[in-house]
Amino acid sequence: MINDLNKICTVKEDVDLKDYNTFRLESKCMAMVFPDNFEGLLETIEILKKHKTSYFVIGNGSNIILPEYYDGVIINLSNFNKYEIKDNILTADCGCMLNNLASKVTNLGYAGLDFATGIPGTIGGSIYGNAGCFGSSMSNIVESVTIFDGKKVKVLNNSDMKFGYRTSLLKDSKNKWIILSCTIKLSKGNKDELKALVLERTNKRIATQDLTHPSNGSMFRNPEGYAAGKLIDDLGLKGYKIGDAMVSNIHANFIINDGNATSEDIIKLVDKIKSEVKKNYNIDLVLEQEIIK
Ligand SMILES: Cc1cc2nc3c(=O)[nH]c(=O)nc-3n(C[C@H](O)[C@H](O)[C@H](O)COP(=O)(O)OP(=O)(O)OC[C@H]3O[C@@H](n4cnc5c(N)ncnc54)[C@H](O)[C@@H]3O)c2cc1C
Repeated sequence: MINDLNKICTVKEDVDLKDYNTFRLESKCMAMVFPDNFEGLLETIEILKKHKTSYFVIGNGSNIILPEYYDGVIINLSNFNKYEIKDNILTADCGCMLNNLASKVTNLGYAGLDFATGIPGTIGGSIYGNAGCFGSSMSNIVESVTIFDGKKVKVLNNSDMKFGYRTSLLKDSKNKWIILSCTIKLSKGNKDELKALVLERTNKRIATQDLTHPSNGSMFRNPEGYAAGKLIDDLGLKGYKIGDAMVSNIHANFIINDGNATSEDIIKLVDKIKSEVKKNYNIDLVLEQEIIK
């Protein structure tokens, strides 16, 4: 199979995944492939299906918990990285980094993506999970999403995507569709005002979030009417540790890797937090992240 894949695109075998996930977990996979274009992606998937090999698409690995070993192939679409702006419409490929793109368009004086300058995910991963903050999210600005459903390329409009709080049609159904690109509606704003807004928000993140340790950002969705971080903080769990996975001392909804945390440490800590919150408040916390098996 690897020989076949090698004919189509760059393939790395037995890959150390520490640099491919923001938790910086020690993890490996059988192989990672880097298709250059849609034809390469299509052929890659055909080969993987023919060999009945497990696979998934990775973005920036900032919303997944990787296992110690993934016995399959990870598809990396970082070569899908083109974007253009025409008449206030941004068209962006799935592998573009959301935070970089947000900074670029904001500096050009476009409003709409300014909320996202601190989100270290790709366009693909951020649409999949409807990433958001500061009162906005991808669902507010995405006009259309081009996906590959395993047979055909389709263009879905915003309502087809069934966006919800940190979710979308793709995340909910786990249908293995692949996001190829999207269009985003921007509007003309005032450059100086946008820069000041972004700076204010960046400073807020620096002051309130744990950005000095590897993490995946917020672990749990906020239950309706509550802030997950406050619930966890009120239980005195800041600093609570399992192995090297620790509830951040700065933001209780962040779990940080305080050295050499394993995915098992993180998952055990997630379970501990969930059970404490259930026992004390009768609230079922929902994990934002996806545990890859
Ligand atoms: C410091 C920090 C701050 C953060 N702040 C925020 C925040 O403010 N708001 C917020 O919402 N999130 C935040 N996050 C979490 C994370 O950055 C976002 O959820 C981000 O959108 C995930 O994108 P990704 O590319 O890393 O996805 P990944 O973690 O790589 O993947 C997530 C899921 O998306 C799927 N996926 C990825 N690309 C595609 C594709 N092309 N087609 C189909 N499926 C795909 C993957 O298979 C996986 O199931 C933060 C994380 C960190 C570390």
